[in-house]
Amino acid sequence: MGAETRPSLLFPGIDQLRPTTDYQPMVKAVFIKIIAIVGVLAVLRFGNPPESWIVAAAIVILALGWMAWGVFNVNSGMWADTAWRSYAATKSVALTFDDGPDPEFTPQILDVLKDKNVRACFFSVGQRVIEHPEITLEVKKQGHLLGNHSDSHAMWINFSLHRRLRREVRDTNAAIKSAAGVTPKLYRAPHGFKNPALGDVLAGEEMLAIGWQIRGFDAVSTNAARIAERIVDGAKPGGVILLHDGAGLQGGTDRGATVEALPVIIDGLRARGFNLVRLDELLQLEPYAE
Ligand SMILES: [Zn+2]
Repeated sequence: MGAETRPSLLFPGIDQLRPTTDYQPMVKAVFIKIIAIVGVLAVLRFGNPPESWIVAAAIVILALGWMAWGVFNVNSGMWADTAWRSYAATKSVALTFDDGPDPEFTPQILDVLKDKNVRACFFSVGQRVIEHPEITLEVKKQGHLLGNHSDSHAMWINFSLHRRLRREVRDTNAAIKSAAGVTPKLYRAPHGFKNPALGDVLAGEEMLAIGWQIRGFDAVSTNAARIAERIVDGAKPGGVILLHDGAGLQGGTDRGATVEALPVIIDGLRARGFNLVRLDELLQLEPYAE
């Protein structure tokens, strides 16, 4: 499918991040054709109601299902170019942390990472960066990356349109720039959902969406052993790993299990022969704007 893949001018490297079996453009093309063919047949074959209504309803359901698949599949590139795994010959993986900074748990996670000599990427929530600029700066100082995880982390922003999404993205970048002096080019959508407007907004801001290959479900689980086991067993070469150092704007959620699981995860991944590298190194991407 390589020849049919739309090259990204903003992130030339992203084409190498796509698997050779990337079926995204094909799925899109096939679905558009199926919908068109069914539509023509509906008119020719079932020109009269109620048959034509039934066929028309089927077409609408098919189209909506296809669009929803692109929204809810966190690694789908349908609506926004998304990187979530390196397909280069590598035994490396990268740790990412969402929803921080958190005054209690982010420093604890930084300590573990320092102790284990691992550099990660922190997808930070703009409003929490404004509350804790000193932690954001400390993340940067310790050699980790800062990414954009929206300003409000509200569930409904995934269904917002250009204006609102652009404000979420820009406000967060401005907060991170103010706290740590860098402007992220990497964006992780809250809950991983992406709509067509987000693709436009990210392209306009010269940013790229980042998904994940495996997650610990540490946002919902408090069982450190389960979190560690899930990631150590489920990680694949080149995979982006999702954990959480904060709780979005809900706050108060205990990330103790993540802190407890982290050394076990790092040791377990290394025992499986994985190198833990920073996200920009794994994906060969420039993480910040000039
Ligand atoms: Zn989140």
